[in-house]
Amino acid sequence: MKKIFEDKNFSIEKIIVGPFTENCYLINRKKSEDCFLIDPGYESSKLINKISLYGFDLKYVMVTHGHADHTGAIAQLYQKYDIEVFLGDGDQNLYENPDKWITDFFPEFESPPKQYSIISNDKKIIIDGLNIDVIVTPGHTLGSLCYKLGNYIFTGDTLFKNSIGRYDLPGGDKDKELLSIKTKLLTLDQDCIVLPGHGESTTIASEKNNNPYLI
Ligand SMILES: [Zn+2]
Repeated sequence: MKKIFEDKNFSIEKIIVGPFTENCYLINRKKSEDCFLIDPGYESSKLINKISLYGFDLKYVMVTHGHADHTGAIAQLYQKYDIEVFLGDGDQNLYENPDKWITDFFPEFESPPKQYSIISNDKKIIIDGLNIDVIVTPGHTLGSLCYKLGNYIFTGDTLFKNSIGRYDLPGGDKDKELLSIKTKLLTLDQDCIVLPGHGESTTIASEKNNNPYLI
């Protein structure tokens, strides 16, 4: 399974964490000593050890949605680093008050602090000199977001290889999810690499042609 993804300007490392084998992505702009994480799901010590090993300082955490299997390490990361967290509008309650059925799987879970920046609309943000397109993709949850960096799209639980995220949980909506995927993800460059919140990476073209939920 591929774990390192390289661009001329940055590198991405996939770190699989927690009982739900969530994909956390550690991103570093080349020549920078800062880094940021997308979806630090759990196992904060594993993430902190990795960041220390590389000699990085963690500055930002981007959350694709408020489910605890994607946010489980954030409380401990706040204790260690001075971070800014980005969250999609609509997921505040999920983020602050996670469902017990999920946190029961995470014995060390602590709710993250209520300090974060809310993203309500598609926008560009600059993180450590890197341009990131934040794409609002409701459906898996009300506030689900995807993040595009270079030729990579981080899709959280919205789009997986050959599957899509559950839409039967609170805040989920199948029609909205399919609309988000078809209008905002499948329209990206066909060779864009999809880095989902669980499982293997894929490409937009592969999902357009093979994903049974999208045909
Ligand atoms: Zn989820």
